[in-house]
This record gives sequence, C-alpha cells and structure tokens, in this order.
Amino acid sequence: MKSDQPTQMDVPERLALVRQEIALAAEAAAREPDSVSLVAVTKTVAAPVIAEAIALGQHCFGENRVQEAVSKWPALKERHPDIELHLIGPLQSNKVREAVGLFDVIETVDRPKLARALAEEMTRSGRRPRLFVQVNTGEEPQKAGVIPGEAEAFIALCRETFGLTVDGLMCIPPLEEEPAMHFALLANIAERVGVKALSMGMSGDFARAISFGATHVRIGTAIFGPRDA
Ligand SMILES: *Cc1c(COP(=O)(O)O)cnc(C)c1O
Repeated sequence: MKSDQPTQMDVPERLALVRQEIALAAEAAAREPDSVSLVAVTKTVAAPVIAEAIALGQHCFGENRVQEAVSKWPALKERHPDIELHLIGPLQSNKVREAVGLFDVIETVDRPKLARALAEEMTRSGRRPRLFVQVNTGEEPQKAGVIPGEAEAFIALCRETFGLTVDGLMCIPPLEEEPAMHFALLANIAERVGVKALSMGMSGDFARAISFGATHVRIGTAIFGPRDA
C-alpha cells in the first residue's frame, strides 16, 4: 500500500512522493496532472506541521471535524488567504454556521435538512462555500451519504428547492472492498447529474481513483504519517 512509507521520511519527502505519484497516475490516464487537486488531510495534525506543508506550496487541505478545524484554521487562513479548506467529515445542522464561516468546500452534503440549513446560512452570511454531495456508494448503514439510488433526486432537490449549486460528488468506499467499482459508480452518477468534481481516493487507492476520473484526492497518512488511534 502506498500509505506504508518508511517512517523515517518527513513531510517534504512524503509530499513530493505523493505529488509525483499523482502526476504519474494522471499521465497513465491521459489526463493533465493539474486536473487532480491534492487535498492534504490534516485531521490530528498539529498547526506547525500544517505550516510546514503550506511552506512547501500546499494550499488545499481537508479536515473531518468542524470543532478541530475551528481550533486550528482561522489563524492559518489569516496568514495564508489563498488556502482552500475542505470539510470531509459529517456536518451536523447545529454546526452549519461555523462550517459555512470557515470552509471553502463542504464535501459532505447528504440530507435535505442539511441542504436547507446550508442554503439559509449562505443567504444570511453571504458566504458561498462550494458544495459536494456525499454518496454512500457501499450503502453501509453506519456511513454518511445519500445512497446511489437517491442521489439524483437529492441533487435535484438541492438545486430546485434550495437553489444550491452542486459542484461535485464525494465517496468513501467500504474499507474491505475493491474500491474500483465505487469510483466507477460515483463517476457514473456525476455524469448523469452533470456534476464536474469527483472527490475520491485516499492514501491507499488514490492512483486508482485518478484512473476513474478523480478531480480531488484526499490524502492524509501518505503525507503526514500514521495517525495515533
Ligand atoms: C482521514 C480521511 C481521509 C484520509 O485518509 P488517509 O488514508 O489517511 O489518506 C480521506 N477522506 C476522509 C473522509 C477522511 O476522514
């Protein structure tokens, strides 16, 4: 697995390697390397290490918890206004105000109540983070996301009832399954509903995701090393 880089490597080496692997995977798929955005996932990563990645030219980051992001990112974003911060974890309706205030992309829109709350807060605040819909491609009961059979109707609801623009789809394939069919399914839904961005692929499978059209790969471990449990 690509995530099992030797532990003596540091962030600069790991980041360079990940960038190189992204470029190679894009090339193998006859795609431009810059058609794939690297979202560096910084959950549990401390601010000084994040600053190191920023200094290496990384500007797109992902966090899975609103609370953790609120504690780390406002100061970093103030110093680096070009940063693009993605929310990649579940969003509770009562955290919508904070999330809209901080994130530039919210990848986990997955239910009408949340879509409504986002629409209201975006109107109220005037901030317009880009929105992706999370699809639970494996139909796992414990996992967030709209199931594939309901994705089209949910996106129509977002657009028509709540006036939202849906820019992308996101999925997290089941851990123990071959991810390819999940990537293919997500790409297929995106084409049907006319959505351009595809957030799929993590440390262990991002090259595969790129071959299926990923425009955003969310990579933590391969850049920052293993997280404490
Ligand atoms: C943690 C996380 C990632 C990154 O996973 P790695 O295997 O460390 O690359 C990607 N997506 C989501 C939603 C995550 O929570």
